[in-house]
Amino acid sequence: MVEVRQARKSFGAHEVLKGIDLSVERGQIVGIIGPSGSGKSTLLRAINHLETLDSGEVWLDGVQVNKTLPHRQFEKHINQVRQQMGMVFQHFNLFPHLTVLENITMAPMLLKKSGKAEARALAEELLNKVGLIDHIDYYPSRLSGGQKQRVAIARALAMQPKVMLFDEATSALDPELVDEVNLVMKQLAKEHMTMLIVTHEMRFAGEVADEILFMDEGVVVEQGPPQKIFSAPEKERTRGFLRKYL
Ligand code: ATP
Ligand code: MG
Repeated sequence: MVEVRQARKSFGAHEVLKGIDLSVERGQIVGIIGPSGSGKSTLLRAINHLETLDSGEVWLDGVQVNKTLPHRQFEKHINQVRQQMGMVFQHFNLFPHLTVLENITMAPMLLKKSGKAEARALAEELLNKVGLIDHIDYYPSRLSGGQKQRVAIARALAMQPKVMLFDEATSALDPELVDEVNLVMKQLAKEHMTMLIVTHEMRFAGEVADEILFMDEGVVVEQGPPQKIFSAPEKERTRGFLRKYL
C-alpha cells in the first residue's frame, strides 16, 4: 500500500534520511521508533510530500507520489494523493472557528463533493467511533486535548483514506489523556486500517503494531515484529535505545 524506496533527504549539509526503504502492506500497522532527530517525522512528511525528497521514490497503492510532472499537473496529482492519506500530528490543528461537525465535514464536502446529509451521516458514524457524538456541536476550545485529538482522527478518517499516518499523536497530551487516543488507534488497528505510527511509547507500539521499524540517524537500523525488536533486538544501537525505555 505504501512503498518508500531509497529515500534521501538533506537539510543543508545534514543528511536526515540516508536511503530509507519501507513497505507497508494493506491492513498492516507499522510502528516507527527512534531517538529524537533520527528522521521519523521527515520520513512521514515525505510520504505525503510535505517534504520533497532529494532522491528516492514514494508509492501509494501503485501510484508514485513524488513523480515528475509539470507544476500544474503535479499540484492536482498531489492533492489527489493527499486525500487518500490521513495525517494526525502532535499538535491538533482543528479549525477553531468551526464546530466539531464542521471540522469533520468540511473536507469531504469541499474535496469529495459529498452532500451535506451524507457528510453529516459519516461524521456521526465517526464521532460514535471515537466516542464524541455528544460533542458534535462543540467548538474545539471546549474540548480537552485528548478529545481534540480524537476529533482530528475522525476528521482524517472522514476522507476515507487508504492509509493513516500518525506522528506522535499523543506526545503533547497530559498523561491521563493518552489512553483514550491510543484506544482509538487500537480500534482502527482491529478494523485493519493501514497505519504508520511514529511514537515514543514503546508499550503502545508493541501492542498495536505488526512491524516495528527502529530508525537512528537517518537509517533503518532494524525492523521486525514487536516481539523480536523489543525482546531480542539484534543490533547494539537498538538495545541501547530500548534500554532507556525499560
Ligand atoms: P523527534 O523524535 O524529536 O520528533 P524525528 O525523528 O521526528 O525527531 P525529524 O523531525 O525528522 O526527527 O528531524 C530529523 C533531523 O532533521 C533533525 O536534526 C532536525 O533538526 C532536522 N530537520 C527537520 N526538519 C528540518 C528543516 N525544515 N530544516 C532543517 N533541519 C530540519
Ligand atoms: Mg518527529
